Amino acid sequence: MGRMMAIAAREMGYNIVVLDPTPNCPCAAVADKQIVASFEDVDAAKELLSLCDVITYEFENVNLAVAKALEPKLPQGSELLKITQNRILEKALIRSADQRTVNYTAIESQQNLHDFAKDYQTNPRKIVIKTAQGGYDGKGQFVMESAQALEEFIKQQYNEGLTYVAEDFISFEKEISVIVCGNISGELSTFPVAENIHKNQILHKSIVPARIADSILQKAEAAAIQIARKLQLVGTLAVEMFVTTDNVIINELAPRPHNSGHYTLDACATSQFEQHIRAICNLPLSDNRLLSPCVMINVLGQDDYLMNPNYVGKHKLHLYGKKEAKHDRKMGHINVLGETQDECIIEADKLLEP
Ligand code: AMP
Repeated sequence: MGRMMAIAAREMGYNIVVLDPTPNCPCAAVADKQIVASFEDVDAAKELLSLCDVITYEFENVNLAVAKALEPKLPQGSELLKITQNRILEKALIRSADQRTVNYTAIESQQNLHDFAKDYQTNPRKIVIKTAQGGYDGKGQFVMESAQALEEFIKQQYNEGLTYVAEDFISFEKEISVIVCGNISGELSTFPVAENIHKNQILHKSIVPARIADSILQKAEAAAIQIARKLQLVGTLAVEMFVTTDNVIINELAPRPHNSGHYTLDACATSQFEQHIRAICNLPLSDNRLLSPCVMINVLGQDDYLMNPNYVGKHKLHLYGKKEAKHDRKMGHINVLGETQDECIIEADKLLEP
């Protein structure tokens, strides 16, 4: 993610310094300098501060003390990070922006858990319990359907040092996301809505435009704008949503360019990475029109057969330069373009045949 942001910034003429604990990280290949240090290292953050005019981040689990130290040059601020690092704060923010979340209970103490378990006995249903902090791609999530399963969770997995949300597990028609960017002057702009298909809770494909009714598209865009306004967004926010028969329910927020926005690299007049750099550098936001329908396919460590440099024409392969291919590690993606959406879907399915 950092590398793709840096490539966009490079094309716009900026110099780059990257802070990352891994020497020669993928972003270092396109940066002028790398500070090799842990993400918790406040002194290293101060060095970054002394070298840069504008600072951003590629993932939301940035240590808050470090973010605070960087704040004078971090246009996105640390509040956005604080909220999106914690599902409880995030859901409260979404509701305060008058948007829907699934029904949930915050579990911040043993007493909360006890009360929830008591209530659940009288109303057992399918739920997913998620750690409030630190989970991604389905990690730290426990799905259960009975009071007995909840008891087992409490005995075996519950960690009293952590906080959780217990969400009703809903049946939805589709998952979609809207990426919204905001600049320092208060301009806001959304990218076309992506329809997201997950496999093992990891994004597998994004189909753009999303195959949903116009009324839902409008609700999705309006919801993203409303949340961005509430946050006084500077930078990029990915808003992940469930689509029900007639509405959208907000699942989660990511305060950065997002995997479901990688299609913008080839299919939009401006990519999410360029727009992000524009947003934090207080440039006017640019045209984000969709120029072609697109299917984005994620390439994971085990997908050797997809890492084919011979793709031409409408198959655009992006590799992230990660040194080691591990199972389920995101190594790159392919954007499949076409004249029609059906063509993109058929071509993407052909590529996916091993
Ligand atoms: P998350 O980490 O919250 O994005 O969850 C990962 C995936 O789990 C989502 O993309 C959904 O496919 C599924 N999921 C998460 N929460 C729920 C829910 N409350 N009801 C149904 N499916 C869910």
